[in-house]
Amino acid sequence: MFTDGRSRRVIFLAHCLLNQNAISDGTAEVPAVHREILRTILDAQVGVVQMPCPELCCLGLDRGDPKGGERPVVVENTRIRRAMGQPEAAARLRELTSQVVRQIREYRKHGFAVLGIVGVDRSPCCGVNTTSDQDRELPGQGVFIAALQTAMVAAGLTVPVIGVKPSAPDALDRVRALLEM
Ligand code: SF4
Repeated sequence: MFTDGRSRRVIFLAHCLLNQNAISDGTAEVPAVHREILRTILDAQVGVVQMPCPELCCLGLDRGDPKGGERPVVVENTRIRRAMGQPEAAARLRELTSQVVRQIREYRKHGFAVLGIVGVDRSPCCGVNTTSDQDRELPGQGVFIAALQTAMVAAGLTVPVIGVKPSAPDALDRVRALLEM
């Protein structure tokens, strides 16, 4: 089974690495895609799974405040983090987390290599090494990554999780390190 042309190697990416149109107002760095990250992955013949954008799915494209883009990023990120903790958003977040875990479990069940998960540092949802809270960038995880890690542990899944700042000089090296695993 699955002995066709596929590589049987996949990586899970934060949604906005492939679609900057989803990111919060005022924070897009490129028009559409972080091309070098994507090219590096494609050159390694690894399939790309685009995770859902938790903020878009739970709060909307404007994150529930059309003036959000006028605030300093970490201040707006802190507001977003609080909004993600409200009951309706938190329930949706759990659904999204379950969807990702279900996909990982399926790939693993069939012997595929799930090379890792790539989050976006400073994000109140997808941060891995740093996140935003208290109107600052702080060490720690975003609420989506934290929930995903908890759900993976509960499911008995171990998957490397890295965070990048997509335009930082070390972003490609961090992704390459995952691809070599
Ligand atoms: S970092 Fe996460 S929550 Fe923020 S725009 Fe990207 S995918 Fe959405």
